[in-house]
Amino acid sequence: MTAALTNLLDFDPEQLVAYCADLGEKPFRAKQLQRWIHQFGAHSFDQMTDLAKSLREKLATRAEIRAPAIISDHTSADGTRKWLVDVGDGNAVETVFIPEEGRGTLCISTQAGCAVNCRFCSTGKQGFNRNLTVSEIIGQLWMAEFELRKTKGIEPGPKGERQITNVVMMGMGEPLLNFEPTTTALKLMLDDNAYGLSRRRVTLSTSGVVPMMDKLAQEVPVALAVSLHASNDPLRDGLVPLNKKYPLRELLAACKRYLEFAPRDFITFEYCMLDGVNDSDQHARELIALVNDPEVGVNCKFNLIPFNPFPESGLLRSKNPRIKAFAQVLMDAGIVTTVRKTRGDDIDAACGQLAGEVKDRTRVQERMGKMAEYQQKYGANFGRIVEIPS
Ligand code: SF4
Repeated sequence: MTAALTNLLDFDPEQLVAYCADLGEKPFRAKQLQRWIHQFGAHSFDQMTDLAKSLREKLATRAEIRAPAIISDHTSADGTRKWLVDVGDGNAVETVFIPEEGRGTLCISTQAGCAVNCRFCSTGKQGFNRNLTVSEIIGQLWMAEFELRKTKGIEPGPKGERQITNVVMMGMGEPLLNFEPTTTALKLMLDDNAYGLSRRRVTLSTSGVVPMMDKLAQEVPVALAVSLHASNDPLRDGLVPLNKKYPLRELLAACKRYLEFAPRDFITFEYCMLDGVNDSDQHARELIALVNDPEVGVNCKFNLIPFNPFPESGLLRSKNPRIKAFAQVLMDAGIVTTVRKTRGDDIDAACGQLAGEVKDRTRVQERMGKMAEYQQKYGANFGRIVEIPS
């Protein structure tokens, strides 16, 4: 029986040094290997021409470089590119690339499904399937970076120009509930012999797993975004069930502690705009009081997200004038506020539209039927992304 190959995408820099030591190799070999994998996109040891032939042969019999397989690959009219990748056992997750002037952002997933079950999130409705491994998390970045280069005709190798400049962990899953693989992947993103991204350019988004926020601050304090979505505890309890465990004041106090280590001097609060639920001027004023609270108040920025409706949610997107008025109340109080411009609507790459359908295609049919019914009831824009004119 042949032994299973070790996937080198699972190793952080230290682990790769240890692996090479086991093979009787010096630490600098691990650095070379890491550069070949993460900077040059090598997927075979034959490509690693500055490694001794004997080492390449040894690696070929024991190791592999294997990212999750691509199930589908779509590019939207606005350039947003979405991959659906296979993470085994009928599970798939999405990875989305968003090109903008002067930068390219990749949104990656950390779990297949999610246990947090936020009311406005279609991923949460699928339930939790499993945690992704390091190679499945970093493999999304590896796959996307080198697929993007390939599309541009850039050959794998040392001369490739980097396509992804920013990473956001905002895809499927709660990253802090898959802590070890997530932080290992983060370390690789920051490592100079891998992707070399600055901590300011890597953002982790959490629904507020307080103890793990403190742990992240100690281990790898990247920029932090927090899914807030409500201005008081009773409201947040209903939208983000995790709030019952870590209520708002505890969450804000954790944000304040995090800022002592963060690469930016503010926390980004994400706020999904839900018609008649959390979008009144009174809610905005409650938020202002909360973030200015003498005890737990925190330097922050708000990112308002027009909700992307889906049938089971029973929720609707706030009207555009309401979103603008809400933003104005926050801005009048001196809080930097942006309204998320959603991208890739023609390929369903918007937030809260992430995969899972691969597992159960019947449900997709049902959902599409229901969507058509809701569109008749609420108008053709139900479930579609509408850009808010500035
Ligand atoms: S919003 Fe995030 S934490 Fe909440 S259910 Fe969706 S994926 Fe999970």
